[in-house]
Amino acid sequence: MREQLSLLPAAALLALLDPWPWVPGSAALAAEQACPPAESRRSLPPAASEGQAGAGSAILVPAPDPAGADYRHRLRPTSHGWPRRQHWCLWIEPGASEGPAARWDQAWEDAVAAAVTSWQELLPLSVVSDPERAQVLVWRRRPPLRGGRASHGRAELKLLVVQRHGQLALEPHVSVSISPGQRPEAMEATALHELGHAFGLWGHSDDPADAMAAVPGATPIRHLSQRDRATLQWLQEQPALMLSPAMAEQEPQR
Ligand SMILES: [Zn+2]
Repeated sequence: MREQLSLLPAAALLALLDPWPWVPGSAALAAEQACPPAESRRSLPPAASEGQAGAGSAILVPAPDPAGADYRHRLRPTSHGWPRRQHWCLWIEPGASEGPAARWDQAWEDAVAAAVTSWQELLPLSVVSDPERAQVLVWRRRPPLRGGRASHGRAELKLLVVQRHGQLALEPHVSVSISPGQRPEAMEATALHELGHAFGLWGHSDDPADAMAAVPGATPIRHLSQRDRATLQWLQEQPALMLSPAMAEQEPQR
């Protein structure tokens, strides 16, 4: 038996050793395996920031769903494809573990965790402790003013040529800022909305009952609507980012 086991690839061996039900530690191990660290990263020109993904894109803007069940026609791709993934790796800024700041940090962390759980029901994603392993970085900070306007949350997209396990790929890289200076329900709604952008919903719904509404209503939206879900499902069926041979040829740099 020993010889047979040693012939298995390392991943298969770990799967055999992985206890069920999972114990603390094995989830972290699984996340590390699903999210290898970047060996190199290279920027492309700024692809988009919130609501502006894909200006001048070669990819067509989608026609509305004939049944009107989603808001796909309000999403915009990048010029290299839809910034979607089958599996996302997420890093969340750690808070203070003691002292007066810990309580406030905990409220922020709980709000972000609740939003992550909502998306996790629809999308495979792993939370990692090393930002080098992540495509989405979530920061506890108030976004800087833009055009003199303040906001509680912001998501910013860049496209990077990333090497992991020796393989180059074009990846979305999203910085999400969530302000800690809000009520818990409002923080959760902000996190739900901004993570929606991070996971590829670069556009806004015109229905205030959707998490991705352009203009939030009086009540914070803390749950994904049927339209949010249908739009994400449509997105996941679209062509993902594609690395062109010209992008792959340039020298990698960190
Ligand atoms: Zn938005």
